[in-house]
Amino acid sequence: MSSFTDFIAGIPKAELHLHIEGTLEPELMVAIGRRNGVSLPYPDAEAARKAYNFSDLQSFLDIYYRSTAVLITEEDFYELTLAYLKKAASQQVRHAEIFFDPQSHTARGIKFETVIRGIERALVEANRTLDISTKLIMCILRHLSEREGLEMFDNALPWKHWIAGIGLDSAERGNPPEKFRTLFERAHQEGFLTVAHAGEEGGAASVRSTLDTLHVSRIDHGVHCMEDENLVDELVRTQIPLTVCPLSNIKLKVFNSMTQHNLKAMLQKGLCVTVNSDDPAYFGGYINENYIEAATALQLDRNDIIQLAKNSFIASSLSTVHKQLYLKEIDHYAFPTEQVTI
Ligand SMILES: [Zn+2]
Repeated sequence: MSSFTDFIAGIPKAELHLHIEGTLEPELMVAIGRRNGVSLPYPDAEAARKAYNFSDLQSFLDIYYRSTAVLITEEDFYELTLAYLKKAASQQVRHAEIFFDPQSHTARGIKFETVIRGIERALVEANRTLDISTKLIMCILRHLSEREGLEMFDNALPWKHWIAGIGLDSAERGNPPEKFRTLFERAHQEGFLTVAHAGEEGGAASVRSTLDTLHVSRIDHGVHCMEDENLVDELVRTQIPLTVCPLSNIKLKVFNSMTQHNLKAMLQKGLCVTVNSDDPAYFGGYINENYIEAATALQLDRNDIIQLAKNSFIASSLSTVHKQLYLKEIDHYAFPTEQVTI
C-alpha cells in the first residue's frame, strides 16, 4: 500500500449512504440461510459472489431482495449490523448514518420489532466498544405505493426514539418523488431528518423535483445533477449534500468506468459531495475501497481527500459541536506538525 492509500485508509470519516441489508456478505448470507432453512439459488458463497454482475439498478435489486430473505430472527439483524460496524470502524468510520428497509422484511412476515431490535442492539454495542457513533434512517421502498409506505411509517412511530430519519430508496425509474409527498410531509411534521435517493437512474430533473417536492436535507447519489447548471449553482449555494457511491455507480453502469465518474468535477464545482459504499457486499468494496478506487482513477490529491472526509461530517446530522470535533480531528491527522486552529 502506498503512503497515499495509507493516508486515505487512516483519515477519520463518516458514512452517510449505506443500506444495512446491502452489507450482507455472501459468507454470512449462506450461513444464516442454512441456519434458518432458507434455500438460496447459490451452492456456496463463492458462487453467490460470481453472480453479482448487474446490468442496471433493477437487476441488482432482484438479487438483493432474494438474498435479504435469509434474514428472519432478531439475532440475524444483530449479526448483520455488528459485522458492518466492525468493518466500518476498522476503516476509520467514526460516524455512520445507516439505512434499513423494513418493508422488504415485513412483506415476508417478519415483524418490524424483530428487525429494529436486532439492529439497535448492534448499534448500542458498537457505540460502547468500537468508537463509532450511529444514527438509523428508515427507508421507504419507492416501488411500493405511498399507502403502503404510510402504513410502515405509522407502524414505526412507536420506535421513533431509535429512528433519526426517513429516506426513500429502491427503483427510481417510474417512481417519482411526487408519489411520496404526503409521507414526507408527515416525516417533517414528526421532526425526522429526511433524505432521498435521486439522480442515480433519473436525471437532473429528478434531483430538482425531489428537492422541491420532498424538501429533503440530503440527496443520495445525485450525480446527474451535473446535467443542469442552474441546479448545480443552487446546490453549491445551499450546500445540500450529495452522498455519492462510486463503486455502486460503476457496478450499476451509471458510469462506464471509474475514470468517467464525475466525482472530481463535482468537488471542483464546490458541491458538498461525500463518498460512501451504498451496498458494499454487492459492489466490491467498503468506504475505503470507494475512496481509493475513485482517488486512483480520478487522480484525486490529498486536499481532495481531506475535503471529502470533512464533507462527510459536515453533511451528517451530528450536532455542530460534534462536527467541529471531527473536523479538528481530521486537521490533526492531515497536518500533525502544524498548530491547527478552527
Ligand atoms: Zn443507496
